[in-house]
Amino acid sequence: MSGFGLTQTKIIYRAACDLGPDQKGSEDPLSEGAWSEGNFIEWDEIGLSPAAGVLSYGLSVFEGLKAQRDQNGGIRLFRVDEHARRFAASAQTLLMPFFPIDRFCSVIEGMVRRNSSFVPASGEGSLYLRPVLFAVEPKLGLGRCRQFSMTVYASPVDDFFSHRPERSLRLEVLDRERAAPGLGAAKCSANYAAVLAAVEASRAKGFNDVVFIDPESGYSSQQTVVTETSGANLFVRLASGHLVTPPLGDQLFPGITRDSVLRVAREVLGITIEERPISLEEIFEAGDEVFCTGTAWSVASIGEIEHRGSAKQFSTSETQTLILNVIRGVQTGRLEDPFGWVRKVGEVKR
Ligand code: PMP
Repeated sequence: MSGFGLTQTKIIYRAACDLGPDQKGSEDPLSEGAWSEGNFIEWDEIGLSPAAGVLSYGLSVFEGLKAQRDQNGGIRLFRVDEHARRFAASAQTLLMPFFPIDRFCSVIEGMVRRNSSFVPASGEGSLYLRPVLFAVEPKLGLGRCRQFSMTVYASPVDDFFSHRPERSLRLEVLDRERAAPGLGAAKCSANYAAVLAAVEASRAKGFNDVVFIDPESGYSSQQTVVTETSGANLFVRLASGHLVTPPLGDQLFPGITRDSVLRVAREVLGITIEERPISLEEIFEAGDEVFCTGTAWSVASIGEIEHRGSAKQFSTSETQTLILNVIRGVQTGRLEDPFGWVRKVGEVKR
């Protein structure tokens, strides 16, 4: 397994939700809705009306989570309930009914069991699960939809930047925000569409990804505060030894890996954490180490950050190595799971 790409697996899951005719005031439009029982079916195309709300208006939210093999060949899901909660919150941001938390967890388990032959051997990657909830109602004008689909597919993957030497990643800071106002905390497709061209332009210049800024902080390097990359949260270790990461807010995606890193750093490694805005100037002057965190990125050390042609190199990945060792250890069963993050999945015998 090398890198983060799609390999079609065997079984997908589909459920439908129809809120029925709009009877004004008769229901909570953000309720769970009436989700059908759903089916695990062979991987197939999904039929869609050309007028489906998702196509014109981007009414779609998704998640990304991983199952990994432990050293005994068992399979472990990482923080599935947190992903369920974030999926629900994202759906509600786009005025879509959320998929119930317990059902989400059992659907994900069911997907892992049914696709268990695709879970790579321990230490050789993971099975990535991609739940997507989107509006299928044919609708011409912009407005809340009443018919939705929830699908889950799975693909074996390696980390996004797997097999790269330490600190080989280069990030370009862009003078722009990542997310539309009100959408930054939601995993909605629109946020990714909004940055695609900018990310590709940076990649064409040889960068691996970009760092966005909080537009409210202004655009001079003294004041400009960073937020995150196109798919990962950002951490900076200062010369003081403190670990700084931008605080949650409308321009920051609430990464589950970010939360895991904060807890491991604080509770296992005894590192002092500061969740606060951090300016580019401070990173350039006092930053010793930078790393990025995400389900797909894992905990990735950064070698260089560039802004408007000035670059800063980072010469250590000491903290990243310590934290990744604990998180991988918990995910694969090499270490105890003091946080209750892991759920063991029983395989379907063939
Ligand atoms: N920021 C953005 C913009 C992301 O897309 C992701 C990946 N979902 C993250 C941060 C990291 O989130 P997580 O650790 O939950 O994967």
